Order: sequence, then C-alpha cells, then structure tokens
Amino acid sequence: MGILIKGGEVLERVGKVDTIVFDKTGTLTSGKPRVVDVILAPGIQLDPERLLIFAGSLEKGSEHPLGVAVVAEAQRRGLKLNTPSDFSALPGFGVKGIVAGKSVLLGNKGLMVENQIDISSIDIQLDKSTENGKTPLIICIDGQVSGFITAMDTIKPQAKGNVLQLKKMGLEVVMLTGDNCKTAKVVAGQLGIEKVVSEVLPSGKVAEIERIRKSGHCVAMVGDGINDAPALASADVGVAMGSGAAVAMEASDITLVGSDLKAVVKSIELSKATMSKIRQNLFWAFFYNIVGIPIAAGVLYPVYGILLQPVFAAVAMSLSSVSVVGNSLLLNKRSN
Ligand SMILES: [Mg+2]
Repeated sequence: MGILIKGGEVLERVGKVDTIVFDKTGTLTSGKPRVVDVILAPGIQLDPERLLIFAGSLEKGSEHPLGVAVVAEAQRRGLKLNTPSDFSALPGFGVKGIVAGKSVLLGNKGLMVENQIDISSIDIQLDKSTENGKTPLIICIDGQVSGFITAMDTIKPQAKGNVLQLKKMGLEVVMLTGDNCKTAKVVAGQLGIEKVVSEVLPSGKVAEIERIRKSGHCVAMVGDGINDAPALASADVGVAMGSGAAVAMEASDITLVGSDLKAVVKSIELSKATMSKIRQNLFWAFFYNIVGIPIAAGVLYPVYGILLQPVFAAVAMSLSSVSVVGNSLLLNKRSN
C-alpha cells in the first residue's frame, strides 16, 4: 500500500489517533510554486510576455523556487530567454542584472525600497495578491516599475478529498506552518481546514504538538521537512512523506513511500482493521477452548453421557490456529 510502518506497536497506535496535524508546504501543497499572473503597472506599454522574458532571463539558472517557477512559465509559453550579464543574487530580496542592454531588478518590496524605486502605482494590487496567498515578484526595468509576476504554491490534487475523509472518520484536522498567517489561511480555506496555527518556528511546532497531547488527545503529525523532524518525533505517531527530507523519515514512525496523502487515510483504516482482526482472533482462539475444556472435563456427562475424546481436542486446537491465520489473511482483501 506504499506505507512503511516501524513495528506493530505503531500500527496499534495509529488507530487511536483522534487529532491529525499537517505541515503545509510539501505536505498539503506540492511545495513548488507556479506562476499565476503577469501584471503590467499602469501606463506601461509592454507585452506581458516581454516582462516574462526579462524576469525569466534574469532567473535563468536560479535555484530559488520562485525563480524556477518564473523560468518554467517562460518555457511553457515557448519564450526565448537571454543570458543576463552583471548578474547578482540578493538573498532575501531578489536578483538584479542586465538583460538585453536594460538594467533589471526583480524581487520583493524590500528590494525596490532599497533601490529607491517608487512602487506606489502597483501598491494596492500587490497587497491584494498577498492577501490571496500569492507571492509577488516586482520587475523594475531601467529604474521604472514595469509590473509584477505572482506565484503560488499549489495544493496537492487529492488533498481536499483526503482531509474531508479524515474529518468524516471523526478526526480533528489541524494545519501547522511556519508560513505567514495570510497564506496559511488561504490554503486552509481551500482545503476545508478550520484550525490553523501559522508563523511557528520548528521549536514552536513541537510545543504545539505537546500542547495538544497534554489536553488528552492522541496526535499524529504529518510532515516532510527537516524542520518537521522534532515535531514528528514528539507526536504519538509521526508520519513522513517519502518525497521529503531523510531526517524527517528517520524521526517518523510511518513513512509514506509516495507523496500521496491518501496513504494517511489508508494507514488509519489499516490500523483499525488490524486491531479488529486481533480482537476477532482472540475470540476464535479462546472459543474452542472455552467450549471444549468443560466438555472434556465431563460437564455434559452426568446428564447426556457426552465426553470429548482427546482426538477432538487436538482437532479443535488446530482449528483455532487455522481460523486465526485464515481470518488474518482476509486483511489482504482490503489492501487496494
Ligand atoms: Mg514542509
């Protein structure tokens, strides 16, 4: 089923989980932002694709997720990118360089403020994008703001359905993220998650898990990153995405081989099914003995003259093993 479970005890615990905490980026979302809009500043006479060429050329070879998103979008539209000269990356702000003889700045508000660029013409639009959970990248060509490109992390295709299923199973679903409050709320809203804890540091994630546990809940934490590892270790059940960091997998009790959240639902169902099988098996293992031993001891002899021969006892003993194994094998039927 694509689920790696570290031992029987873990399998037993998963079924008792009543609260499930998800990391956002890389767990509920793909973790790879995509370009959503290309917007020109008022009064700028330029083809929006020209903006993308400037931005894409500058970001060519970038490893930053937003840069990668811009280049991917330019390539998707079949645009030919130039090679920038005099390029420099300004961590936390953006990039700058010369593209086709023009001096280009690409980055956040901070970068524009730093370079004394007036962004008042697009300020309201920028705020609106941020409120909608998008990250804007402002483009300034030859000292003038030309527009901006917005990018957004995408929710995993089946995530909403999986969250709904977990809720239907009676679980409390929580989203825990280091991201800002606005973005977190937008993503949570799209997934139907009401409980959101945002702007938490990795240590804050552990504190939140501990807090929920102390209030008497059995907590599963699902995450993918290095920053999730401590929280995965402190939860009753830590679930790591196989697409994530090795440290997260090391700290977890369950690793999902793929990145599909359906496996979270499956693990809980599997645990419940296994536990119910164990109970049924205990019944069958004892049933023969409880019935057989008194008969063999002669309970029915005085009235009905019935005694149980040792041969029957041997058969009953074997039958109890066969029924336990057979019943357990029925678990295979549900694996897909
Ligand atoms: Mg993550």
